[in-house]
Amino acid sequence: MSGWLAIAGLGPGAEELITPEVSRVLSEATDLVGYGRYVARVPERPGLTRHASDNREELDRARQALQLTTEGKRVVVVSSGDPGVFAMAAAVFEAVDTGNPSWRNLDIRVLPGISAMFAAAARIGAPLGHDFCAINLSDNLKPWDLIERRLRLAAQADFVIALYNPLSSARPWQLGRAFELLREELPETVPVVFASAVSDSAREAIDTVPLRDAVAIRADMRTVVLIGSSRTRLIPRDGGQPFVYTPRSAEA
Ligand code: SAH
Repeated sequence: MSGWLAIAGLGPGAEELITPEVSRVLSEATDLVGYGRYVARVPERPGLTRHASDNREELDRARQALQLTTEGKRVVVVSSGDPGVFAMAAAVFEAVDTGNPSWRNLDIRVLPGISAMFAAAARIGAPLGHDFCAINLSDNLKPWDLIERRLRLAAQADFVIALYNPLSSARPWQLGRAFELLREELPETVPVVFASAVSDSAREAIDTVPLRDAVAIRADMRTVVLIGSSRTRLIPRDGGQPFVYTPRSAEA
């Protein structure tokens, strides 16, 4: 029997934000591979073997998934959000690119999911309505200097910026430094959205503050931070969160 490998995104957390395509493939799988917290989001069932691993072992995990596929298994590698955004899809292709040449001919598919920035944006309005970029603030796989350079240039280009992996116990100072640098480049009134545990009804928290008041301690590992451009606007509302949106047009 020939195996296949699906690299699937589970969305930001809520069951109803998992696509029907991903649900179907999960129901057909024999093996589930991924970081423990994401594997735990898929209900156990007879016939499904779970291979949960530590968050830092992405390449090993990708190779394990490819090996299982060559053995004829129907394998799903799971990520949160979209698997192509700072997640397992690129790790699998790195493993294919550098690994056993026979892996190139396997049946490998990437199944999209709703990325944290899209789930967060939808909660508050349309902050990504004009040009934007996403930056991973983790310096595990790239030097901090490069991150600073990209942040500065993105702010100068007036992109809205989505910051992933803003903070962890191993990386406590990076987000504060990022705000400092952004305050040098952008008006201090630019809206900053801290969107935490989006779509997890018990824990979701979304706050919008001006850049001048943005502090790193507001964020954690399950927060995506959206930095507005100079055009991003707030629509205040009585007794509720303001809408935040970026107009579709910009003039020089
Ligand atoms: N592939 C994922 C991103 C993985 S990196 C995606 O497309 O969303 C992990 C980072 O994603 C976290 O540090 C956080 O910045 C963000 N994130 C993931 N789930 C989130 C959620 N429910 N709410 C807010 N941010 C989230």
